[in-house]
Amino acid sequence: MKVFHMTQKGYNPLKNAQEQFDAIADKLELEEGIRDLLRQPLREYHFTIPVRMDDGTTRVFNGFRIQHNDARGPCKGAFRFHPQETVDTIRALAMLMTWKSSVVDIPLGGASGGVLCDPHHLSLREQERICRGWIRQISRDIGPVRDVPAPDVYTNSQHMQWIMDEYEIIHSGRYPGVITGKSVGSGGSLGRTEATGYSLVFVLREALQDMGMDMNTTTASIQGFGNVGQYAAEMYERYGGTVRCVSCWSQRDSCAYSFSDMAGINVQKLRKITDRFGEIDRQKAKALGYEILDGDDWIKQDVDILIPAAQDNEINGRTIPHIGPRVKIIAEGANGPTTPDADEVIREKGITVLPDFLANAGGVVCSYFEQVQCNMNYFWTREEVLGKLDEKMSRAFHAVRDLARSRKLSMRDAASMIAIHRVAEACKARGWV
Ligand code: NAD
Repeated sequence: MKVFHMTQKGYNPLKNAQEQFDAIADKLELEEGIRDLLRQPLREYHFTIPVRMDDGTTRVFNGFRIQHNDARGPCKGAFRFHPQETVDTIRALAMLMTWKSSVVDIPLGGASGGVLCDPHHLSLREQERICRGWIRQISRDIGPVRDVPAPDVYTNSQHMQWIMDEYEIIHSGRYPGVITGKSVGSGGSLGRTEATGYSLVFVLREALQDMGMDMNTTTASIQGFGNVGQYAAEMYERYGGTVRCVSCWSQRDSCAYSFSDMAGINVQKLRKITDRFGEIDRQKAKALGYEILDGDDWIKQDVDILIPAAQDNEINGRTIPHIGPRVKIIAEGANGPTTPDADEVIREKGITVLPDFLANAGGVVCSYFEQVQCNMNYFWTREEVLGKLDEKMSRAFHAVRDLARSRKLSMRDAASMIAIHRVAEACKARGWV
């Protein structure tokens, strides 16, 4: 499989992340040395994973782990499966993770990685062999005090458990803190599965209150109905909001569809007709009375809130002109869903953006809670976990909002300033620069 350095979509997420970093570094007046250190990863691992397939043939997969910065604590970040992943996307995600851990003030750094593969075309046993092969290649360079992976696109608690098991075989011991996102009973934390989607809505709740809006009377459109999209929709509905549109990717048709109901989508019912990849069954949705629209139509909806929760580069120069006239707030569930040119248009329109590395940080916060519980070998109740999560996310939101207000900055710039400043200070305190 080809390893791309530029994405096929013709944009480079690392370049975007570095441009955003440079702008904030200017605002923070960072010296050259610290800029050079923070605009690229500390360490990169690229390796091959030979895997015996079910039909007896051997296929070689490309695996990665990229550690951006660990000045504030062990690296933390995604382990994902993706057929079109690019090295620059992984670098950008690793950098984003550093800012994410920092903005919510947890003692962790940033990393990202995964394997170039499409799990749609792999049996579970093949996926298991890929996970075990990945950790065999990288087991010396990750671990509870070095770098702790977590599930992301197309990976889940099962993949995490295979990785943990193989790591424990290699290191002859029990190391539940080597990975997070495990299932409850095997070192996982209650609340972890729903953490990202729920906490996105905790942050959204604070933002709406700040804007004098009542969530009860708001409407939303969500791109993506996987882990983040589903739990965000569930919590938003629980707070009384109305989800008018949800979109997802169709594997068979290789395109996206939107599912709309102006009176409000029933999230639980929609979930029942959604597969484990977050694909909604179109025929069943039609039978339930949903209007089926084009994939891009989710952004055009007459709603107050947009929640991109699918993938990067979705709110861009092409889609932004079609944004619904009433949108007041965009809560970024996906990583890097908005391109810088679209961000400019959004600013001009006066729309508030809750940036990805703040809005979707609940997953890493809960992963951190999982590590803490694993290290103590004492597990909290779900209420305790979600309560601590809400507190942490709300506190982070208020710190960002206060800076944005006092310095007249966008929420993205304010969040970046807080995050980058903390990491730069930690590097300086260690004497790295
Ligand atoms: P997932 O695989 O569970 O779900 C992805 C969803 O997006 C699916 O419903 C899929 O059909 C849909 N999708 C993909 N391409 C689409 C398109 N072009 N148009 C419409 N829908 C599309 O993934 P997830 O875990 O929910 O992650 C979604 C995003 O959130 C990713 O960017 C991920 O990096 C980010 N994220 C996830 C977590 C987490 O805890 N899962 C935490 C932080 C950030």
